[in-house]
Amino acid sequence: MYSAPWITSEHRTYADMVWDFLEAEAVPLFETWREQGQVDRDFWRSAGDLGILGASIPETYGGSGTPRSFDAITLYTQSRLGDSAWGFALHNYVTHYVLTYGSEDQKARLLPQICTGDLIGALAITEPGTGSDVQSIRTLAEPKADGWLLNGAKTFISNGQTADLIVVCAQTEKSAGAKGVGLFLLETEELDGFTRGRCLKKIGLKGQDTSELFFENVELPGDALLGMEPGRGFAQLMKQLAWERLCVALMSLGAVDFALAETVSYVHDRKAFGKALFEFQNTRLKLAEAKTKAEMLRAFLDRCVADVDASRLTAEAASMAKWWGSQVQCEVIDECLQLFGGYGYMLDYPIAHLYTDARVQKIYGGSNEIMKELIARRLVPGETGAPIMGPYHD
Ligand SMILES: Cc1cc2nc3c(=O)[nH]c(=O)nc-3n(C[C@H](O)[C@H](O)[C@H](O)COP(=O)(O)OP(=O)(O)OC[C@H]3O[C@@H](n4cnc5c(N)ncnc54)[C@H](O)[C@@H]3O)c2cc1C
Repeated sequence: MYSAPWITSEHRTYADMVWDFLEAEAVPLFETWREQGQVDRDFWRSAGDLGILGASIPETYGGSGTPRSFDAITLYTQSRLGDSAWGFALHNYVTHYVLTYGSEDQKARLLPQICTGDLIGALAITEPGTGSDVQSIRTLAEPKADGWLLNGAKTFISNGQTADLIVVCAQTEKSAGAKGVGLFLLETEELDGFTRGRCLKKIGLKGQDTSELFFENVELPGDALLGMEPGRGFAQLMKQLAWERLCVALMSLGAVDFALAETVSYVHDRKAFGKALFEFQNTRLKLAEAKTKAEMLRAFLDRCVADVDASRLTAEAASMAKWWGSQVQCEVIDECLQLFGGYGYMLDYPIAHLYTDARVQKIYGGSNEIMKELIARRLVPGETGAPIMGPYHD
């Protein structure tokens, strides 16, 4: 049985529960979700009933009050079973913005509904004109006597068609750079001036409702600004992004494990030149390389998950997990697909979906180039290497 210092018997019981739920309730719906381009709310509510949506929300607000490692299990398991449609990760990010920066009233009112799936979350940072360069966003929230007036547009927003609660990143002061950015909590029900645009067509993640959003003179109450103090949005984002990047990496590991499991079975069954594909040395070497990469990724992620629970996950470690995890995911899945030959190119086989779903992992959540910039910033003389193999965190 696999073990790591952060895994307790409660984690194992929870992992079994999540696996059984997703296997029974999600896997049979993959094709439906791909066809309709989104996940049904009934599914969210079923996940809510089992306590999956509120695992890391305190019991006072309707959750279970377990550490984030329980959410890590959900993310890994979802991906391990081949799902790329359910936007649990984004919903979870919103949970933590509300929990960390929301007012007591917002927490008491919204978190219980986040736990049940009555509210679905989305995080809207990216705009048509800017993604990586968050400080250059143009969506503007102007202060008014009794609140804020929001104007602008977002694109590529996951859960965009279904979300009822959207954390929107906006400028509160023009030309003030990072100091002029705020995060606003939008409750979309009957919100005048808010419209959803197209559900965007993508090469993968076909069941995910990645969308455009528009805001035209949207009137927001004063407490819609998370933290209630203008100019803190960029710092709030940076603080939460470490967890969000680890989430991407956990999904990478799930996908790698799934690809390996599918491929190992396939190459034992498929014959060429009178023997199983697994008997060819090339197959064995490729799979050995893939397995090694998976285990190295797992070891690093174990450490990151333990760090999250101990509230000491650094931006650098999360960036390493994100870029390396998604890189390994793309490499391994490409090699695995090759071993399926022509069948690997057919959408009847999960490996084909894994291939098209993988590519975006190197782009969203902060592109891998940006991840490397963040890591490089900490490479100052005298700070690399330390006794006992050099811990990567302070
Ligand atoms: C399927 C999908 C789902 C998404 N979901 C969400 C979501 O829910 N919410 C949300 O807000 N956004 C979401 N995004 C947007 C995603 O986060 C952005 O696409 C990403 O941050 C990159 O921004 P960009 O597309 O504007 O590319 P750009 O910022 O224009 O970058 C283009 C290229 O230039 C490189 N580059 C940019 N700056 C630098 C630099 N300083 N140094 C080196 N290279 C650089 C990038 O790495 C990239 O390779 C999603 C995107 C996709 C495709």
